[in-house]
Amino acid sequence: MSARPALAPGLVVATHGRHCIVESPDGTRRICHPRGKKSTAVVGDHVLWLAAAQGQGQGQGDDGTIEKLEPRRNLFYRQDEIRTKSFAANLDQVLILIAAEPEFSETQLSRALIAAEAERIPPIIALNKSDLGEPFTRAWGWLAPYRAMGYDMLPLSLKTGGESSGELAQRLKGKTTLVLGPSGAGKSTLINQLIPGALVATGELSQALNTGKHTTTSTTLYWVDKEAGTAMIDSPGFQEFGLHHVDARHLADFMPDIKRHIAGCKFYNCTHLHEPGCGVIAAVKPGDEADSISPRRYKIYGDLFAELSQGPRY
Ligand code: GDP
Ligand code: ZN
Repeated sequence: MSARPALAPGLVVATHGRHCIVESPDGTRRICHPRGKKSTAVVGDHVLWLAAAQGQGQGQGDDGTIEKLEPRRNLFYRQDEIRTKSFAANLDQVLILIAAEPEFSETQLSRALIAAEAERIPPIIALNKSDLGEPFTRAWGWLAPYRAMGYDMLPLSLKTGGESSGELAQRLKGKTTLVLGPSGAGKSTLINQLIPGALVATGELSQALNTGKHTTTSTTLYWVDKEAGTAMIDSPGFQEFGLHHVDARHLADFMPDIKRHIAGCKFYNCTHLHEPGCGVIAAVKPGDEADSISPRRYKIYGDLFAELSQGPRY
C-alpha cells in the first residue's frame, strides 16, 4: 500500500479562469485547479494542494488540485455584465493609480475607494504624470475633497522618476498591494519599473495556460522583493467594482466625507436622500471648504444608493 500523498502549502500567484498557478514556499510553481466545481481560488489565497498522480491531473497539463483554502483576511470583488466575482484576497493595501491624462472617472475612483473601505483595506491614491504641468495641477486640485477626507495621496512621475518614486517604494515595502487604475494611467510602466521583465513572463505564462486558445485576461501576483514580502497584484483594466456585498443603508459608512455628517441627522434611519433635518444634505456645498461634501460626491452617493438598493447582481 502506498502512503497517502501529503498536502502541501502554496500561494496562488495567478489565475486564468479556473486554472491557478500555485507557488510553493521554495518558489516552484505548478498549475492546479480547485477540486469541486463550486470552489474557486483567487490570487493571494493560501492553499493546501495535492500533487496529481502521474498522468492524472484533472485538466490537461495540471500538476495537482487545490484541496483547501485557508481563511481569507479580505476579498476584493469586481463585476462584469453578468455577475460579481472575487479576484484577489489577503491584501494589505490597494494602490489606485490615476493620471493627469487621460482624464479619470470620479465615479470609478469613488467605487474603488468604497470597495477598499468595505473590506477595511487602506487605499493609496497615486496621481501620475506630474511632469505634465498644467493638466496635473488641475487634476491635483480636483482631488482636493479626497485629501480632505484623509486619503493618502501621492504625486508621481513614472517617466521622470525622482523623489516620488522613492516614496511610493517605501509605501509598498513588505506589503501585498493590489494595483488598480484606468488604462493609460501608467500601470504597465509601474510594473515594468518595479519588476523588469514581469509582463513578458506573464504573457508567456498566459500562453502556457491557454494552449491553443485565445489569451484571456488574468490576475497576477508579482514579487518585487520576496524576502521582504513585497508583492504587487495586477488585474487588467479598471473594472466596475463589485459592491454587491455593500448594503445601501451602510454606504455612507464607506464614504468618509458623508459619514462625518451623519451624527447631525434628525432621524436615526436617515438615507440622506430627502429627509428633513438631514446633516448630510445640509453639508453639501460647492467650493473647497474642508468640512463640506462636494456636490459631485453627493451625486455619486445618490447614484450608488439607487444601484445598491436594487439588490445583488448574480
Ligand atoms: P497602462 O495602460 O496603465 O498600463 O499605461 P502605460 O504604462 O502603458 O502608460 C500609458 C502611457 O503613459 C505611455 O505612453 C507611457 O509612456 C505614458 N506615461 C507613463 N508614465 C508617465 C509619466 O509619468 N509621465 C508622462 N508624461 N507619461 C507617462
Ligand atoms: Zn441624513
